[in-house]
Amino acid sequence: MKTREGFVSHSSTTSFTCEVSGDTEPYHDSIGWSEIGACACENGHNMWDRYIIGGWSSIDWTEMIQELADKHDNGDTSSYYEDGEVHPDVIMESRHEGFPAKFCPICQFQVMSENDEYAYLQKLAGVKSKKELLVQVKEQFQSYEEFQAFLKEK
Ligand SMILES: [Zn+2]
Repeated sequence: MKTREGFVSHSSTTSFTCEVSGDTEPYHDSIGWSEIGACACENGHNMWDRYIIGGWSSIDWTEMIQELADKHDNGDTSSYYEDGEVHPDVIMESRHEGFPAKFCPICQFQVMSENDEYAYLQKLAGVKSKKELLVQVKEQFQSYEEFQAFLKEK
């Protein structure tokens, strides 16, 4: 690869996994989440914008900003606005910091993330790790065929 003098590129490719659909998409880290349409709820659930309940536009910024200001700025919302409009940085940061849980399909139990599903089933099985789960399965079944037959049983 030919490199221009004085031109140093530190950018690299990373990926984003949507916890609602389960799909992962690579993206160049020089572009932000807004360009790829990715966001997270306040409980850290990553998802594509289209999964926000009611869509990104249904988020009530006035209410959200008041909540943020109450939490971080003693209720003073002035730094969240610029010329009477919501400051663009506030919108950008909220993609990462998280929109309110009431707009999140995972927080509202409309869908279950793979992480939650796995954690819940692990808890029901009484194991603390994948390793422990494997030990338990190994003890219970003589062969993989037997294990598969069990899974298909009604
Ligand atoms: Zn959530």
